[in-house]
This record gives sequence, C-alpha cells and structure tokens, in this order.
Amino acid sequence: MVLGFAASRLDHVGIAVRSIDEASRLYVDILGLKVHGVEVVPEQKVKVAFIPVGDSEIELLESTAPDGPVAKFIEAKGEGIQHIALRVTDIEEALKKCKEVGLRLIDETPRKGAGGARIAFVHPKGTNGVLLELCERG
Ligand code: ZN
Repeated sequence: MVLGFAASRLDHVGIAVRSIDEASRLYVDILGLKVHGVEVVPEQKVKVAFIPVGDSEIELLESTAPDGPVAKFIEAKGEGIQHIALRVTDIEEALKKCKEVGLRLIDETPRKGAGGARIAFVHPKGTNGVLLELCERG
C-alpha cells in the first residue's frame, strides 16, 4: 500500500514577523524581490504578504491581534520560520493519508487560506517539530 500523497512542490515558507513593512525591506531592497499581494485573513488574525521566489513563495505573517497564533508564536519564540507549506493536488486525500498514518491534524477539514487556497495544518508533533501546511490551489 502506498501511504504517500502527491506533494508537488514547496509552496511557501511562512515567516512570523512583527511588521510586514519592516521585514519586507530585506526581500525588496536587498534581495530584489517583489511583494506580490498583501491580504488580511481574519479567521487566522493575520495579515500576510507573499513574495514569489522562483516556483515558491515567502509568506510574511504579521498578527492583527495580540491573541492570534502568530502573535503567540513570536511571544514564545521570537520572529522566524513558523511553518512550511507543501502544495498538494487533492487536500482531502492528503488529509486522509496523514490521518491513516497517525499524524495529528490541526485541521480535520480544509479551510480557506490567503490567495484563495484551501489549506490545512498538520501538528508539529508528528513532523519533526515542523508545523506543516498542506495547500491546494485551484
Ligand atoms: Zn502558509
């Protein structure tokens, strides 16, 4: 039985920052990249900015509320990489497979992410300490 599912690429790396305006200077002024889209995701109490790098993107995450997950992350660990996201073609199938192998899911069903993606998080406990986001884009 094949347990894997088709993760097709590294979709993005999510970086928790105190200020998107300040953090994006590194990527824009120094690294010559462009901020592609800034968007608020109210359900996750976060403002995000996507910065494409080749086939993948950097996602800067700034909390919009002191009790949001990104604010809590920064409080506990400081700014830094908060999650990595893998692109999948069928997120329901991917979640099913993750469940079958005993991974703990933060999202049992997909929710709406930035940029119209359907996303779900897998708990870091079963993934070598990495908060893993599965991401399906239409
Ligand atoms: Zn993400």
